[in-house]
Amino acid sequence: MCGIVGYIGKSLAAPILLDGLRRLEYRGYDSAGLATVSDGRLETRKCAGRIQALADLLKKEPAPGGVGISHTRWATHGRPVDENAHPHADGSGRLVLVHNGVIENYQALRAQLVEAGHTFKSQTDTEILAHLIGKLYDEARAPHGKARLLEATRAGLKQVIGTYGIAVLHLDVPETIIGARRGSPLAVGLGRGEHFLVSDPQAIIAHSQEAVYLKDYDVAVVGRDGFEISTLEGGIAGSYEVTKVDFTSDDVTLGEFPHYMLKEIFEQPHSVRDALRGRLSKDDASARLGGLNMTPQELRDVDRVIITGCGTAYHAGLVGEYLIEALGHVPCEVEFASEFRYRNMPMDKGTLVLAVSQSGETIDTLAAVRESVRKGHRTLGICNNVASTIARECGAGVYMHAGPEIGVAATKSFTSQVTVFTLLALLLGRIRHQSSSEGLGIIKALEAIPAQIERALETSDQIREIAAKYVGAKGMLFMGRQYNYPIALEGALKMKEITYLQCEGHPSAELKHGFIALIEPDMPSVFIAPDDTMFESNLNSIEQVKARRGPVIAIGTEGRKGLEQVADDVVYIPRCPDYLSPLLTIIPLQLLSYHMAVHLGRDVDKPRNLAKSVTVE
Ligand code: GLU
Repeated sequence: MCGIVGYIGKSLAAPILLDGLRRLEYRGYDSAGLATVSDGRLETRKCAGRIQALADLLKKEPAPGGVGISHTRWATHGRPVDENAHPHADGSGRLVLVHNGVIENYQALRAQLVEAGHTFKSQTDTEILAHLIGKLYDEARAPHGKARLLEATRAGLKQVIGTYGIAVLHLDVPETIIGARRGSPLAVGLGRGEHFLVSDPQAIIAHSQEAVYLKDYDVAVVGRDGFEISTLEGGIAGSYEVTKVDFTSDDVTLGEFPHYMLKEIFEQPHSVRDALRGRLSKDDASARLGGLNMTPQELRDVDRVIITGCGTAYHAGLVGEYLIEALGHVPCEVEFASEFRYRNMPMDKGTLVLAVSQSGETIDTLAAVRESVRKGHRTLGICNNVASTIARECGAGVYMHAGPEIGVAATKSFTSQVTVFTLLALLLGRIRHQSSSEGLGIIKALEAIPAQIERALETSDQIREIAAKYVGAKGMLFMGRQYNYPIALEGALKMKEITYLQCEGHPSAELKHGFIALIEPDMPSVFIAPDDTMFESNLNSIEQVKARRGPVIAIGTEGRKGLEQVADDVVYIPRCPDYLSPLLTIIPLQLLSYHMAVHLGRDVDKPRNLAKSVTVE
């Protein structure tokens, strides 16, 4: 969450920092700021609001200099106001720092610093860290310079409980930026005669396509011509590799689309194709997932699967649960990553843990991964971001290959995750009970999906009109059964994320056990009712809603009659096997939330209070 960009090199820092922040803005957009060093002075500019507000400020008050650090904030401590924006300075005003994460013991540290005479300008936890490192630097005996700043940073961070990715700049060492991480991602971007310190190398893709990712407890000293990584304790950091950053800057531009979310919805035929590419084997009538690093025997020995993730990834996991049980014949459970660590589930040797996170940096999922690995369970990552922390710490797994997802409301990552679960279910099934002809049937149906998603996308204009009818709705209910129960949850999540309407998702048959009380003319219901074994039962629930004057939008299968008689609006998707229907039924729901949000004038790509990839607890 939120972003850090630091630059040291031959060019002017501020334009590079600003451009980097723009690319990370979807990560957090409460406020933004930067500080550069110029003529022996720190030039700090920061303000609440979007990056554009900072750009406007910089037009009035430029910040010259070839070295600088910057930040886009997702507030955890203190409201999104100017004084809480980063960078924060220390007591002397000679050190500035930006920070992603949360300093959990900030109150105790603050009390000590206040006792020592420090005064604070903000309500953030971050400012405490700036004062602490600045104080340790000022009190140190070593000569002024890089080594002294490095030691002060280490000593300060050792007192900290919590998570951080930081960039530190000090007037005494204007040729150096110090970075450190624990729990929040940070990488050094490599260039010639210039280097970067970034929370995500996508920020600087226009300048550098090579990065070295820091590990937890690494500290980096970054200069114009090189960098050094050491540990918090002062030792030499273990080996690190240079990672090629594979997204191009075109991947993160809007093209002809008005919003990233719409662009990403329309990318799904390609992203699902990419998730399947090279992974379907007709010879084996199965899936080939080399990244799992598991022998057929080890796959056979799996007697339970636990899927963990947050938000949309959790919903993809719920679809995965149905798939792994139905196609793979392995008992499967899904747990919120934030609960995984605290639930302490009894798990035996044959349990396989699957951690799902688009960014690969979701802090709760990372914590679940660490708990699982610590207990010795085989733990696989399902991530999009190739060099991400979860992917690296799992050491094995399946990449989604969805390309960068910028819209805060996840869309294409969801269908890629469900595709990966289908492949895993196929693989597990083919090692157990499924015949090769059954396997081939699944492969054939999967191969048809990208083109079917394309057809489902053709409903966009119809859905825009349906959405217009419901702009006055006070909320929306989403219902589905079996494979499409998780789709009801995901549909409700999309709608609330970007329209701010109160929405709920439920299994259709639960209607009569409580939430039927919510049905009234301005509370539309969306039924996911494809032509599957649950069709009649969904129809029955629709009747119950209509009998109480609730409007109904239904998602049905082409060629299956019956819905038009009961629902107010019906959107049709192509026919596919029951177990693949979530890959198609989610498309109209993504479009419905998008068009509703546009009609309501919401900021689709940057919905209030949210941010992409949640790297704080
Ligand atoms: N905890 C810090 C704050 O509230 C940093 C939040 C962030 O990661 O952007 O300012």
